[in-house]
Amino acid sequence: MKSHIEIQRIEKSKIDSVDFNNLPFGSVFSDHMLECDYKDGAWQTPIIKPYSPITLDPSAKIFHYGQSIFEGMKAYKDSEGKMMLFRPLENCRRLNKSAERLVIPQIPEDVFMDGLKKLLEVDSAWIPTNEGSSLYIRPFMFATGSGFHASPADAYKLVICTAPSGAYFAGKVKVLIEEKYARAANGGVGFAKAGGNYAAQFYPTQLAMEKGYNQVIWTDDNSHQFIEEAGAMNIFVRINDTLITSPTSDRILDGITRKSILQIAEDAGIKTEVRKISVGEVVEAAKNGNLKEMFGAGTAAVISPIAGFGYQENDYDLPELENPFASQLKKKITDIQTNKVEDPYGWRV
Ligand code: PMP
Repeated sequence: MKSHIEIQRIEKSKIDSVDFNNLPFGSVFSDHMLECDYKDGAWQTPIIKPYSPITLDPSAKIFHYGQSIFEGMKAYKDSEGKMMLFRPLENCRRLNKSAERLVIPQIPEDVFMDGLKKLLEVDSAWIPTNEGSSLYIRPFMFATGSGFHASPADAYKLVICTAPSGAYFAGKVKVLIEEKYARAANGGVGFAKAGGNYAAQFYPTQLAMEKGYNQVIWTDDNSHQFIEEAGAMNIFVRINDTLITSPTSDRILDGITRKSILQIAEDAGIKTEVRKISVGEVVEAAKNGNLKEMFGAGTAAVISPIAGFGYQENDYDLPELENPFASQLKKKITDIQTNKVEDPYGWRV
């Protein structure tokens, strides 16, 4: 049975004011958004309504105790106008995993999926078709319940809004391997997409930028000897012809792009390893020429190649390869996402 959804349509679309040939990332918003409130112990009827500000009580717990989680996903449209999502249930399940850790109520999968699909139907004209463009989807949940008592709120809101977007990163990035700060700790919330994780990343990232880097490579909080994530992406390192990524843990987000790339790489005959990657190993490989590639993997950028990294006052450049794994894998995954090839995995929805 489909969930009941109330729909309030916008009077006049603003789509004509948007230049779809020059889309920024995530800063132009589609006409509608979905809102669903949790109160009196239950999720209420979802509403699709014009994109508009949200009014909250100043004591709403989101402002004080940071009960806030989000997801990031994309919708695509092929040349025949068919709309597609990529593994959307994975995002819904991860949202609920984050919710559990932050004591936010779980959203039923059918409410989330039916609401999302309806929202995309209503705003289907906003899904870009240009190469590299997509409709970035941002579901988020936060505490609307009020009161200064430091305890979970009694009311929450789920919002899904969407932004037609161009490519996330322009060009290759230079990264700094972090030696002092950590984005996550054992027993903490690193595996969750909690807003606070990102707030905590900004300061070390700002320091890295002041030194001329674009991003931070996060290392483990305990020893800073192991590479864990690349900014807000999972990290892949290619040493000779082996593609390596860190295992997921309390500290690492279980990225959907990461696990899709691992599968695609294995099926393409690329040797993959999921294991801890030490900073020493990467530096050593860079020195002796065995470090061929490093890249970040995540929904926004899909694959973001790394041009070089800094560590302990030294900079290391990565080679320019003819046909890097990064390009091969990016093409394979985006071809599946955008319906250019058969999807042997059943990932396209
Ligand atoms: N790590 C972090 C910290 C992230 O924020 C993201 C983006 N969601 C990822 C990894 C990549 O995850 P996904 O491939 O599911 O977008």
